[in-house]
Amino acid sequence: MIEKDHYCIAEKSYIKIGGIVKKYLESDNLLEVKQYLKTHQDKDFIYLGNTSKMLFAFDYSDKYYLKFTRSQIVDKKDTLIVDSGVTLPHLVRYMIEKGYGGIEKLGDIPGLIGGSIVNNCGCFFESIGDIVEKVVALNRRGEIVIISHDKALFTYRSSIFKSKQLLIVKVYFKKIIVSSDALKASYLTAHRQRLKVQPHGIRTLGSTFTNPQGISIGQLLERLGAKNFQNETARISLKHANFIEVYGHNSFRNILVLIERCSKLLYNYLDIIPKLEIIILES
Ligand SMILES: Cc1cc2nc3c(=O)[nH]c(=O)nc-3n(C[C@H](O)[C@H](O)[C@H](O)COP(=O)(O)OP(=O)(O)OC[C@H]3O[C@@H](n4cnc5c(N)ncnc54)[C@H](O)[C@@H]3O)c2cc1C
Repeated sequence: MIEKDHYCIAEKSYIKIGGIVKKYLESDNLLEVKQYLKTHQDKDFIYLGNTSKMLFAFDYSDKYYLKFTRSQIVDKKDTLIVDSGVTLPHLVRYMIEKGYGGIEKLGDIPGLIGGSIVNNCGCFFESIGDIVEKVVALNRRGEIVIISHDKALFTYRSSIFKSKQLLIVKVYFKKIIVSSDALKASYLTAHRQRLKVQPHGIRTLGSTFTNPQGISIGQLLERLGAKNFQNETARISLKHANFIEVYGHNSFRNILVLIERCSKLLYNYLDIIPKLEIIILES
């Protein structure tokens, strides 16, 4: 196990932002992680994927940051068994090649499988939870817990894992047989559409807010003038107003300022507090 004390989490952050954490842990060994959790039940853990949805908004955190990195795909007769450390683009490429459908439009989402399950990530009317059979996780005592699809409560950008202290280690996906060519075409359509409407090649955390039923927050923010919002190191994307672009050596504070300005704008217009899709960790 890689174990680092007083570690600068910006080094693991997708947008290269974050303060010092008391402990950073990384392992691809399930037994080792089980044992560690068992012997550190009194500690506060934060589980990390690719951190493409996480804003580390602190100078110091006394929590333990743990990343499980095992990344195998086992192809069984009717099921794909995928470690939580596999990247979503890699899994989608594998599935397209083999002719397994259901999540081909998700091939550009930069998450690992664990984090993607927590958020039930999705786009273009596909969500990862749709093809999940069951999820294998570790509880805070390091014991194996199995959560069936029904118990996982997948909804728009959410699942039971958002409110449970469970480390996802493995996911069983059902195999839906589709022609490879059809999957490739479907992926490419989604890919081109994404390039057209979202910023790319720039550091972002994806959508800042979730869309309330029937409302595109990006379009609404644009109409309300949010595309003018910027400061020294962050700006609301000119391409998609629900994205915050991050430049240079950023401070999390500059991002929080933009989130706050957009929240106020949305609150004043919608009369509801907008729901953040970005996960802000404050200590
Ligand atoms: C350019 C860009 C485009 C994006 N497009 C989309 C999109 O179209 N649709 C969409 O839904 N999302 C999108 N996202 C957001 C993001 O990529 C997804 O939500 C992603 O799947 C999260 O995976 P991650 O590994 O980065 O998770 P992280 O950000 O690391 O973690 C997310 C949450 O899951 C928890 N977590 C992580 N790993 C585990 C684990 N093994 N066990 C338990 N908990 C864990 C974390 O503690 C955190 O609460 C986009 C992001 C970017 C930067």
